[in-house]
Amino acid sequence: SLEPTCFANAPGLWRASWHPPAPEGHKYDRGHAVVVSGPLATTGAARLAASAALRAGAGLVTVACDPSALIVHAAHLTAVMVRPVRGVDGLGEMLADRRLNAVLFGPGAGVGEGARSVVKRLLDAERAVVLDADALTSFGDAREHFLALSRAARGPLVLTPHDGEFQRLFPAFAGLDRLSAARAAARECGAVVVLKGADTVIADPQGRAAINDNASPWLATAGTGDVLAGIVTGLLAQGLPAFEAAAMAVWMHGEAGRVAGAGLISEDLLPALKLVVAGLAGEEDR
Ligand code: AMP
Ligand code: MG
Repeated sequence: SLEPTCFANAPGLWRASWHPPAPEGHKYDRGHAVVVSGPLATTGAARLAASAALRAGAGLVTVACDPSALIVHAAHLTAVMVRPVRGVDGLGEMLADRRLNAVLFGPGAGVGEGARSVVKRLLDAERAVVLDADALTSFGDAREHFLALSRAARGPLVLTPHDGEFQRLFPAFAGLDRLSAARAAARECGAVVVLKGADTVIADPQGRAAINDNASPWLATAGTGDVLAGIVTGLLAQGLPAFEAAAMAVWMHGEAGRVAGAGLISEDLLPALKLVVAGLAGEEDR
């Protein structure tokens, strides 16, 4: 249906899907998110996303990277784990562990055959998957191939393009208003689409859609999109359905921006997310 749209910043949309940790719970109950890193020259985006996944409440988070990038990740990460994997086969071996239940690929990924083979492997992996940034445009003009893989994805899938990435992936919908464009795209690729911008539209293939307008213009700075992709992944790891995870993540990201305030940079969103999560947990205590 193309009818009513709700506001993702009206928490009724996703609020019932999220719970604070159970009293007797342990970290394995909260999911294990994986962020697949790009090459040695562009590793920071994966770290931002991985830290955001942990802040969003995933019980464990692992960055999977080429062996050449291991030392730089290890030098910069603490609670996030790092695991060297050699190529797409190494990634496949890692994913034999069924506890790894949500995977992000794209921030800092670079484009080319290597990136395309990671996308293919993940969409065939029966895992919740988030594709962002370079992962969305890695197929270039072969976008139909990407869309076919997306429709055939074996697990929940969320795509998080900004306007430029959206236009490259869905040129046919570029002339539509952003709500209609996101809806048409979600139908086309059979996935939840998060069309990012000053207002962010979240749409699913069945026609559900929401607009989030709680975000601050200070979020227009390097790395904030990587943080958002990490939040979505952290919520998927906790078992939220794709549409609810996407809508809640966009809300949390906007709230974290509000908490961090004027002058923020993407790293400031990480401690701010602590306060956003505490606020949600506090509601449940009352
Ligand atoms: P990216 O373009 O991938 O770095 O993502 C940028 C993030 O910042 C997205 O979550 C956008 O929704 C958000 N953002 C960018 N510009 C604005 C703006 N003017 N107002 C609010 N949020 C914004
Ligand atoms: Mg981005």
